Amino acid sequence: MDHIYLDNNATTRPAPEVVAAMHRCLDASWGNPSSAHAVGQAARHAVENARTQVASLLGARPREIIFTSGGTEADNLALRGLLATQPNKRHVVTTRVEHEAVLHTCAQLEREGYCVTYLDVDHEGRIQPDSVDAALGNDTALVSVMHANNETGVIFPIEQIAAMCDRRGVPLHVDAVQTAGKLPINVAGFPVSLLVISAHKMHGPKGVGAMYVRRGVRLARQVFGGHQERDIRSGTENVPGIVGLGAAAELACQLTDADRARIAGLRDRLETGLLAKIPFARVNGDRSQRTGNTTNIGFETLEAEAVVLTLSEKGICVSAGAACSSGSLEPSHVLKAMKIDPAYAHGGVRFSLSRYTTDADIDDALARIPPLLHRLHGLLPRAQPA
Ligand code: PLP
Repeated sequence: MDHIYLDNNATTRPAPEVVAAMHRCLDASWGNPSSAHAVGQAARHAVENARTQVASLLGARPREIIFTSGGTEADNLALRGLLATQPNKRHVVTTRVEHEAVLHTCAQLEREGYCVTYLDVDHEGRIQPDSVDAALGNDTALVSVMHANNETGVIFPIEQIAAMCDRRGVPLHVDAVQTAGKLPINVAGFPVSLLVISAHKMHGPKGVGAMYVRRGVRLARQVFGGHQERDIRSGTENVPGIVGLGAAAELACQLTDADRARIAGLRDRLETGLLAKIPFARVNGDRSQRTGNTTNIGFETLEAEAVVLTLSEKGICVSAGAACSSGSLEPSHVLKAMKIDPAYAHGGVRFSLSRYTTDADIDDALARIPPLLHRLHGLLPRAQPA
């Protein structure tokens, strides 16, 4: 069966150029980059080339890029690494809609005695930049805010937030896992301290990511071992993964406004088509400030997991904004924080496109999804008249 893959915020297909670069690397640059001999130095060269490619994507200097095992590790390192260099400060500011990599780290920090302020979002999933300013105090060690939300695609005003944090002398960590390779990012243009990306969300391999560490920002290592990655992240480098990330970054640099507009156009066509054909559907999240590849649609009274499984049986890959926990379906923390009407939040489904999504995929999705969901909706018991 041919799949229509609309789950690119979960992971993306590795680009053929990425796969080829990784193959070449495994064949030719398999040495240990820390070895002084020629075999090791070939691997070192491959890693440094990738560092330059990632730095170019972000507008950073190569020395400001640290490779990690992905977004989760980098988010953990960002928070803990910043806190460890400021032992007298015990307060962290973040939002209610961050990825678990940040939220679960914050929950653990609370158990360790830190105080965390979770900023609210409005009904459209937006934060008020002023709420960041209001939350900052003398005890605040860091602010952690994502660039765009993984479930709704809603973009946060990180430039404004960075300016505020900078004025107050508080470091800002930005989780840009869902925007790198989708939106242009230029860290030279605004005072962010740390920014995290992950290769597999931008047509690179899984298990590798990178963190931009602005020159002068102090970050304490959290993994002890060798002196790799400027002593910030020990461990023999994942050379093929890093090479894959570099190749993915280079491809992302070549993405034009026209490419981005094409993806957003397909997303819009999918969204308007589904809304027109499915009267019990509506969009969750601010439609004007979103990554161009994402739409989160709530299907009234349907359970998101039932939608995902029904579509999956027919070869359509999407994901649920709800997780099944202890037998009961709970809307995701993001939709809950947005106070979405439960009738729609339980049926919150994320559709996310990529540069490989075609017109034919959207035609097919629009032909196949509405009848399936109408059938599913028709199966639900109707409320009995009193
Ligand atoms: N941050 C965000 C916003 C994400 O969407 C994800 C993955 O879904 C992560 C962090 C974690 O990245 P990784 O899968 O590389 O650990």
